[in-house]
Amino acid sequence: MYQPQWEAMPREELRALQARRLGELFQRLEASPFYRDRVRITEAMRRDPLAALPDLPLTSKADLREHYPWGFVAVPSESVARIHASSGTKGKPTVVAYTARDLDTWSDLCARALVAAGAKPGHRIHNAYGYGLFTGGLGLHQGIERLGATVIPASGGATRRQVTLLVDLAPDGLCCTPSFALMLAETMDEMGVDRSRLSLRYGIFGAEPWTDAMRRRIEARLHLSAVDIYGLSEVMGPGVAVECHQAKEGLHLFEDHFVAEVVDPRTGEVLGPGEQGELVLTTLTKEAMPLLRYRTGDLVRLDPTPCVCGRTHSRMSRVLGRVDDMLIVRGVNVFPSEVERILLEFPLLAPNYQLVWEAGAMDRLRVEVESQMPLEDSRDLAARVAARIRAELGVTLEVSVLAPRTIPRPEGKAVRVVDRRAAVAGTP
Ligand SMILES: [Zn+2]
Repeated sequence: MYQPQWEAMPREELRALQARRLGELFQRLEASPFYRDRVRITEAMRRDPLAALPDLPLTSKADLREHYPWGFVAVPSESVARIHASSGTKGKPTVVAYTARDLDTWSDLCARALVAAGAKPGHRIHNAYGYGLFTGGLGLHQGIERLGATVIPASGGATRRQVTLLVDLAPDGLCCTPSFALMLAETMDEMGVDRSRLSLRYGIFGAEPWTDAMRRRIEARLHLSAVDIYGLSEVMGPGVAVECHQAKEGLHLFEDHFVAEVVDPRTGEVLGPGEQGELVLTTLTKEAMPLLRYRTGDLVRLDPTPCVCGRTHSRMSRVLGRVDDMLIVRGVNVFPSEVERILLEFPLLAPNYQLVWEAGAMDRLRVEVESQMPLEDSRDLAARVAARIRAELGVTLEVSVLAPRTIPRPEGKAVRVVDRRAAVAGTP
């Protein structure tokens, strides 16, 4: 562990620390233009901050967008040391601000995540998350430096050059999205690189939901141990939670800096341990942009039981889907990750797929997935995949098995859902 005094804290002490920090957060919210008028400190909040939390209002992404760019910043502008922003696929980007102390905390949490994956001081780590406004690149970068490892700031893109660096510089660790890890493996094949001779021992993959089936594919292809890292720019960036390489059963959520709740996404009602719902995060220590009960949009379960690694922080399940990504096909709820899990049970299929909405009398969702090698006739395989989806998810989807390398490769996050219905005027 990088910070065992925090990561392995007895849970009663952790609760007491959370309560104290939450009380301090309530005070700081008075300096936030957004929260100033919305949150009044009551006697109940002073007496027992954790018990009062579920009665306080939730904060949404829409709130952040409506108060763009500075409505959530709770410190004077000269105290802001850095700005990041989300991609803004649905309108204006979301701007997030950090004080020097926020960056210091973030570096520690990314160093914790790296150690949880297997990193040690002195290792070389290839960081292929995008640098810039996106939090992935710089977030892990400062964690690698904090740990005392050597950082190779490769950023995204230029895949062939990255393969050359992976071979020549012989890094121990790799950080990128899971889809980019697979693209690196494919590019190695094209370049004739013998992957079993790579020096990589571990990988930290995140920024998009992925499954255990995908983990097995990545581990087999790159000959490394793969762990999932979680974070979101609004709350901090990568390093909110991470899997430990010892268990790989859920991501330890750094509860000394965040309070996690799971709520029913429709009603906002708080759910119990083990129940699946939307993850809601409260930042305990952030200075520049504290957030109270922020709705992440990610569907998870929380497990507070002890872990073999000795960390005491609760584990969240890997993200089961995004609240917004849930597809409704003729009344049945389908998450892309559930389809992914089924597709990867077929060894002949490659881990490249898309779910395509097509126009028709009724909305039709078709699964396009690549085969690992050229097939003379893929109809039988497609029919077996469709039958398995019907049996496990209770929905009939058309399945097309395509030739290798026919689905576009993203340089950042994978695009899993494509809409090929006629665009309605006025929509992008
Ligand atoms: Zn663990």
